[in-house]
Amino acid sequence: MKTTFRPRLLNGQTGDPALLVSLRWQGRALLIDLGRIDRTPAAVMLPIEAVFVSHAHMDHFMGFDQLLRLFLARDATLRLYGPEGIADCVAGKLAGYTWNLTDEYAFTIEVTEVGRELRSWRFAARRRFAREPLGTPRPFTGVVFSDPVVTVEAALLDHRIVSIAYAIRERMHLNVRPDALEAAGLVPGPWLNRLKQAIRAGAADDTPIEIPSGDRRPLGELRRSLLTITPGQKIAYVVDTLFSPANAAAIIRLVDGADLFFCESPFLEEDLEQAARRYHLTARQAGALARAARAKRLQVFHFSPRYEGRYGELVAEAQAEFGGLDVHYGELDARGAAVS
Ligand SMILES: [Zn+2]
Ligand SMILES: [Zn+2]
Repeated sequence: MKTTFRPRLLNGQTGDPALLVSLRWQGRALLIDLGRIDRTPAAVMLPIEAVFVSHAHMDHFMGFDQLLRLFLARDATLRLYGPEGIADCVAGKLAGYTWNLTDEYAFTIEVTEVGRELRSWRFAARRRFAREPLGTPRPFTGVVFSDPVVTVEAALLDHRIVSIAYAIRERMHLNVRPDALEAAGLVPGPWLNRLKQAIRAGAADDTPIEIPSGDRRPLGELRRSLLTITPGQKIAYVVDTLFSPANAAAIIRLVDGADLFFCESPFLEEDLEQAARRYHLTARQAGALARAARAKRLQVFHFSPRYEGRYGELVAEAQAEFGGLDVHYGELDARGAAVS
């Protein structure tokens, strides 16, 4: 069965963190973290609708300018989520350029800070990216982004500053059975997407859905005869965090049962003290967290360059502790996507 999410680390396991999660069949994508992205083709980046930033250390946020450059002349709204203070960081970056010729541009950035509350601001190109409050603050209850297809949950971790971990979850997975489609004498087409959208939106069973002949059939009948519905996929992402009891508990709660867990492992266990001093995890700790959270697969990344030539040891240490299905170093394509 084909999965909806197609995740790839834009800079592989060793480069700056940037995890692109493309949503198959939907022509849209989500991005977690914003390290350098200038080696990724524009066509791959343009479907991005929302960006989830862990924290504003440079290796996680320097791609902002490149994304801005790409989207500036587009009729698009980009949503950006991050810890408290991220709106100041965005404002600071925008203040570094001159905006006297963007009055006609429709591009807008909506920034939401995730803390005890969710607080949002708008930066519109046509307003020279002046910072404007957007809506009223609302309590943060774990979910930062939600639409009919996906939800994104967040956990605030201690990295001497807040570093946010994220989990992207598909609400339900809808799969069309080709044999049933053929048996019903129907051909695939955009109407199947409309059917899926209506189901995800919770439309009633008697909702009429137009099929290719122009006839209408009730949604419930089509769902029962053509679709398989299974629990959705879940991808979790943890970077730049201390291995402390509070962080471990928050990570295990967030990652719980993830199909794929992207976890930082900058250090080997032999450099445990250095990892703790830098508020980072070791590979063994990453493996232990993945096991405790019952993740199905673990992919470690964000390796310290000090291990160049020994990166395989980081993967081996994490997987040995994890003991689950693994994604080995080397089993990645050129763009850092796990070969599965
Ligand atoms: Zn950091
Ligand atoms: Zn980092």
